[in-house]
Order: sequence, then structure tokens, then C-alpha cells
Amino acid sequence: MATQKILLLPGDGIGPEVMGEVRRAIEWMNSQGLTSFEVEEGLVGGAAYDAHGLSISEDDMARAMAADAVLFGAVGGPKWDDVPYDVRPEAGLLRLRKDMELFANLRPAICFGALAEASSLKKELVEGLDILIVRELTGGVYFGEPKEIIELENGQRRGIDTQVYDTYEIERIAAAAFDIARTRDNRVCSMEKRNVMKSGVLWNEVVTEVHKRDYQDVELTHMLADAGGMQLVRAPKQFDVIVTDNLFGDMLSDVAAMLTGSLGMLPSASLGAADANGKRKSLYEPVHGSAPDIAGNGIANPIAMLSSLAMCLRYSFNMGDVADKLEGAITSVLDKGLRTGDIMQDGMTKVSTSQMGRAVVEEMATN
Ligand code: NAD
Repeated sequence: MATQKILLLPGDGIGPEVMGEVRRAIEWMNSQGLTSFEVEEGLVGGAAYDAHGLSISEDDMARAMAADAVLFGAVGGPKWDDVPYDVRPEAGLLRLRKDMELFANLRPAICFGALAEASSLKKELVEGLDILIVRELTGGVYFGEPKEIIELENGQRRGIDTQVYDTYEIERIAAAAFDIARTRDNRVCSMEKRNVMKSGVLWNEVVTEVHKRDYQDVELTHMLADAGGMQLVRAPKQFDVIVTDNLFGDMLSDVAAMLTGSLGMLPSASLGAADANGKRKSLYEPVHGSAPDIAGNGIANPIAMLSSLAMCLRYSFNMGDVADKLEGAITSVLDKGLRTGDIMQDGMTKVSTSQMGRAVVEEMATN
């Protein structure tokens, strides 16, 4: 098996605590010959600022660019609230996303049977839920120009953001969504607002063209994004892959996240364009932040981070079987009643970060 390089960027707060469990899982998978990962570690966020006065050093940036995949913990915390804007902890993550050109953000919403009661929706609506939101991450209204607040002659002020998408941006996110759908239930629902936005009209046309040209085997449907939001809370299990722009994706993925319960359970992936060999630059991270309120106590839930590793196995290394094994182990551990504090329920066994991580690895070893 060819050796592949993974760069770990644990970051701040609970980042290093949950990343420790990823390290444990990788060590076990390597020892079993399931993977052959060479692991490097770097600094990002406040940890990088303390060491270098930057949110990520050029050295670590170069290592991220050269790695086969990057696993990112979390950044930020009150300690760095007053550092200069350019070197604030979040700038490290933004720099990684920009330089690696990570235009596709993948947010799965999976509801584990054992946690279905924790959802804000009825258990039967979310039990067995497994959907994936593919959000365009580098374009649209968050980046479009002009972006400003101007003074008007009548004394009023005007805030302006510009929603803008070019054909190539829609083509590549649509292609990413169709490719991923082929590894799942083979269905894509594209969401925009073509009834009131020109960028929505173009989005709809381009997604339809890409589908017709290259992906006719995948089922494609279209939905207005507001109706999509409604359907996500009415009958979320109707979806497989949802592809949408930066703004709608931001909101719809947060709505989908809450269907599943705790922040400590949610992984994500950000992918770049495929090169000639089909290889994409990639960064995997839990959705949660650095949780300064619980950092240092060894009680953070490592499942979002471990599930991010499972996404890495699946999307960067085409190791769906090993990803299934890891995700299956997480499901079993939850079924056996092990819970970190954030997902604790009556009658269950409360465990620490490392106890949860160890239990997942033991479960992988016995199945
Ligand atoms: P947060 O996600 O860090 O925490 C929100 C709440 O969820 C807290 O009560 C926390 O204890 C809990 N929580 C989060 N992850 C958990 C886990 N794995 N296990 C158990 N409980 C968990 O969000 P916040 O409090 O708004 O932000 C804290 C810091 O994190 C800020 O500095 C913020 O800027 C940063 N942040 C970073 C990222 C990132 O690195 N991608 C994302 C969001 C926030």
C-alpha cells in the first residue's frame, strides 16, 4: 500500500483533545494494515500565533499544500480576542481554504438511532436520516463585489452585497455533488431562488446542463431554497444530496445540523478541484469550535472529529470500507450507551474524551 501523508492541525481549545483520538484511530488502522498514513502535525490559530505571531506559518501552509489530506481541529478562544485582525485565529482557516481553493463544503446530517430522541423533530422523522449538503464555499454573496456601505445624498446609508456566480463555479460544484451522489443513493436536489434571482436562473440552467452532459445516471431534482428549508424540517429523509450556493448552503446546513442533535457529532469536509488523477485538495474538520468553556477537562465529544476522519477515508482515499468500519464502530459504541457529557441521557454511561475514543477503536478491533 502506498504511503499517504496526512497533516494534523489540532488548533486550540478542545481541538488538540479531540485530535488525540484521531491519532489513536490512525495508529490502530496503520497497525492493522488497513491504512498506511504518515502523520505530520502543525500549528494553526491561537497556537500558531503564540509560536510564530501568525495564524499559520508559511512552513505549515506549505505542508498543507503538499499533504494528501488535512485534518483540522478548531481554532480560537478568549485568549486571542485582542490579537491584530490579520493574525486572528480564524484567519488561519480562511487562508487554508483560500490557498487550497476548497470550493466544495460537504456537511452530512446523519441521525444515529441511539440519539434520535435528542433531535428537535419527532423521532420517526429523523431516525436513520443520512443526507449530505454540498455547499459552494468560495463564491456568491459573501465574496461578490461591490461589498460596501455607502453614504447617500439624502443622508441615508446603503449596505451592498453582490450575489455573483460564473458558469465555471456552478459547473464544478454541480460535478462534485453528482460525483458524490454516485457513491451514495445517486440522487441530487439542487436548491436556488430562480423565481427572484438571476444568479438562481443561471445556477438552475448550469446544473441542468452538467447533468445532461455527464451525469444522466444520477437523479436530479430542483427546489426553491425556501421550500427546501421547509422540506428539511417537514420530511428530511426525502433527500440524499442537496447542492446549493454559499448563502443558502450556510443556512440549510445549519438547519440540517440541528436535526441530528449535538454539535459534538457533526463532521465536515472541504474539497478542491480534482487534478488529472482525480485527486482533490481536501480539509476535514468538525463543525464545532474550540469550546473554551470545556477545554482542558478531557470531556469533549471526539465523535465529530472521528467522523471527519471517516469522511477523509471516504473522499480523499477512496477507502469506503475502512470509513464504514469506523462509522459502524461509532454507532455500536452509542448503541452500547456510552455518552460524553454533551449527549448524556438518563441511564447511559458518561465517559471522557479518551474513553470514548478508546471505545471506538476497541469496537473497530472486535468487528
Ligand atoms: P463552540 O462550537 O466552540 O461551542 C458551542 C457549545 O457547544 C459550547 O457550549 C461547547 O462546550 C459545546 N461543544 C462544542 N463542541 C463540543 C464537543 N466536541 N463536545 C462537547 N461539547 C461541545 O462555539 P462557540 O462557543 O461559539 O465558539 C468558541 C470558540 O470557537 C470561538 O473562539 C469561535 O470563534 C471558535 N470557533 C471556531 C470554529 C472553527 O475552528 N472552525 C468554528 C466555530 C467557532
